[in-house]
Amino acid sequence: MARANTAYYAARDPYADFTTAPEICQAFGEVLGLWAAVVWQMMGAPDPVILAEAGPGRGTLMADALRAIGRAVPAFGKALRLHLVETSPRLRALQAERLAGATWHDRVDDLPAGPLLLLANEFLDALPIRQFVRRGDGWTERFVAKDRFVEQAAAPPDLAAAEGEVVEVGEAARQVAASVGARLAATGGAALLIDYGPLRRAPGDSLQALRGRAPADPLVAEGEADLTAHVDFAALAAAGRAAGAAVQGPLPQGVFLARLGLGPRNNALARGQPPARAAALMGAARRLLEPHAMGHLFKALALCHPALPALPGFAE
Ligand code: SAH
Repeated sequence: MARANTAYYAARDPYADFTTAPEICQAFGEVLGLWAAVVWQMMGAPDPVILAEAGPGRGTLMADALRAIGRAVPAFGKALRLHLVETSPRLRALQAERLAGATWHDRVDDLPAGPLLLLANEFLDALPIRQFVRRGDGWTERFVAKDRFVEQAAAPPDLAAAEGEVVEVGEAARQVAASVGARLAATGGAALLIDYGPLRRAPGDSLQALRGRAPADPLVAEGEADLTAHVDFAALAAAGRAAGAAVQGPLPQGVFLARLGLGPRNNALARGQPPARAAALMGAARRLLEPHAMGHLFKALALCHPALPALPGFAE
């Protein structure tokens, strides 16, 4: 999965195969930028402060965030140092066109030390998972050998399952949560992780390939389809907590974005627009907010320094 996605993001335009919240609705990046600005104020307005994004795609989320920050909280705009975690040279070039003054890194662990505000949307779902299968009294692990899955005897994963069921372990995502949690606990700040996955982990094969906006076989045409898997928010929360961070959420994305005022902001954008444009804007916001669309499957989880109070959107 790691090899296929590295090849995929390096060579292809992922937005031909899927779309994401910031590409659907500009208010998404705007309210996340203001979320970061309010958390910065709660941290005591450190200057300088690192504003980072993991997996920024085309840079749309961050461009929208920075515009909103510049208008609403210019002091944060001046204090922030922009850092992007991105492995794809192709996407780095696109990001550079839109985000002046950024510094790039290959890994979240490479971000410089100091108070941090980290945003990540649909980053963790692209990281490789391991899959275990319950077989009789034991377990196997599924590996890709050439173009098929092979199974090898393995130790039991951290979740029970019935005969033949798959249990996924998102080890790479857990490592990100652990290392981000440790540095937030040590030097302050918060991370907002938005992705898709259930609130409660259950057995099941969530590995998915998308090619040309349609489901594809993940084992066919390596590097030509986008591979993702559900994010295990309970495991991320546990990893962050074990590293010393406080955890807020996870919450369904629709609840979180509604509390941040995405609806009113979008209404303001739609006001005075020609009817077709206004209708498109309203439809875009509904897609992010409504439970049957992206509002429920997607979740928001925050890791933060334990001294911070309830963060915007996470308070009742
Ligand atoms: N956040 C963006 C893009 C999501 S696509 C959006 O909402 O539109 C996933 C992003 O993560 C891409 O930018 C991809 O190149 C990057 N990415 C995937 N795997 C990565 C890894 N292991 N390390 C760093 N970046 C990665």
